[in-house]
Amino acid sequence: MHPVVAPNPSLLPLDRHAQADWDAVVVGGGLVGLCTAYALRLTNPEARILLLEKESGVAQHQSGRNSGVVHSGLIYPRGSLKAKLCLRGKETLLNFCQNQGIQTRQFGKIFTATTRGEVEVLRKLEKRAQTHKIYSRYMSGRALKEVEPNVSAMAALHVPSVRCVDFSQVARGVAERLIAHHVHLAFGEKIISLRTHRGLAQIKTQRRVITARRVINCAGVYADTLARKSGLRLKGQIVPFKGIYYYLRKERRALVNGLIYPAPKPKVPFLGIHLTRTVHDEVHCGPNAVLALGKAAYARGEIGLFDFCRMATFPGLYRMLRHHNKMVKQEFKRSISKRHFLNGVQNLVPAITEEDVLQGFTGIRAQAMRADGTLVTDFWFESNGPFFHVLNAPSPAATASFAIGEAIAKKVGALT
Ligand SMILES: Cc1cc2nc3c(=O)[nH]c(=O)nc-3n(C[C@H](O)[C@H](O)[C@H](O)COP(=O)(O)OP(=O)(O)OC[C@H]3O[C@@H](n4cnc5c(N)ncnc54)[C@H](O)[C@@H]3O)c2cc1C
Repeated sequence: MHPVVAPNPSLLPLDRHAQADWDAVVVGGGLVGLCTAYALRLTNPEARILLLEKESGVAQHQSGRNSGVVHSGLIYPRGSLKAKLCLRGKETLLNFCQNQGIQTRQFGKIFTATTRGEVEVLRKLEKRAQTHKIYSRYMSGRALKEVEPNVSAMAALHVPSVRCVDFSQVARGVAERLIAHHVHLAFGEKIISLRTHRGLAQIKTQRRVITARRVINCAGVYADTLARKSGLRLKGQIVPFKGIYYYLRKERRALVNGLIYPAPKPKVPFLGIHLTRTVHDEVHCGPNAVLALGKAAYARGEIGLFDFCRMATFPGLYRMLRHHNKMVKQEFKRSISKRHFLNGVQNLVPAITEEDVLQGFTGIRAQAMRADGTLVTDFWFESNGPFFHVLNAPSPAATASFAIGEAIAKKVGALT
């Protein structure tokens, strides 16, 4: 499959469209933006649709820096958008992968319990699996050894159907379909202002000014900034949470057969350090979840000055830090010390040692936080005038991206 890095040359150059009306402009070449453009195209075959991305290709941020797990939807509360869209989205995603020849692999996932409280959590998950019609099997610590011989736990819940995929490949696959269906993709186009002018959305990028009937803001960690620019009054903020990964050395990969997770913590939207065998047969350990000091501050110690100042003046952040004091301290230690990080890994597979893991990549989650410091746990959409904003689409949004796109296309309605 070819990487998609430029607009379809068979279409008119973008300059010829400058100042012209587009029926819809989608901001963001991550999976949510791409799948939104895809769904808009399917429901509006004649519409003129443009996708703007500030980077030189698709999936440069969250959509290309994640665990690659096609989530089952099991851990999300019944009735939530996450549950609904993850369940629907995973089917569409797997069909898309099959049709496009994108490899997925079924390794299965286990959730482990190391305390009685966690055993209770797994028992509840098992019931929820029945409601969602997902096959799962509760196992004692001994029976678990048949599936993952190196995991130490009191009990586990095994969900054998869980698959993994390379989400960057999915993003490139969607981009190719968009180009084939005459959706225009423009890279290196950073939106710097959004406003309403005579009922139309006016989009200013570093290179040009464009007008559109509808703008769908899928800018990930920057979606709140763009929403504010469009005039939406937002009380919360999108706060960047960094997730660091380590790789298991090749000769130690046999310690992990599939996907190994701790029991979910119902009040925390992060999944905890887990071990994942990837579609490329690597084993990734992580990610942790520590506050990033900038929305694109991937490197250790890096600070994004503007983002940092905004965060520092946001009262919600201090409330969150007070409320989740213990977790914040633990995650901070994990971000600066390999030994502390390893504790999280060894809680799952005790045989993994410091020498077995190598520094991997880093992702930054876009997590919305309210002014009172609570984290928004579900997906969150808002609209104002011609603008539609995706303000919270953290995990499992990659799994759910096709269903999120469909839901947005439905809400946006007819474009022409
Ligand atoms: C560490 C980590 C692990 C995860 N693991 C999983 C997993 O295993 N399974 C799963 O389902 N989900 C997972 N997720 C979640 C999933 O990756 C994200 O929810 C999903 O990729 C969000 O997609 P997005 O399009 O909203 O955001 P992004 O992929 O971040 O895309 C947003 C895009 O907007 C662009 N943009 C921003 N500002 C502008 C601007 N001003 N002008 C133009 N373009 C702009 C950015 O460059 C970017 O390309 C994980 C996330 C992380 C960070």
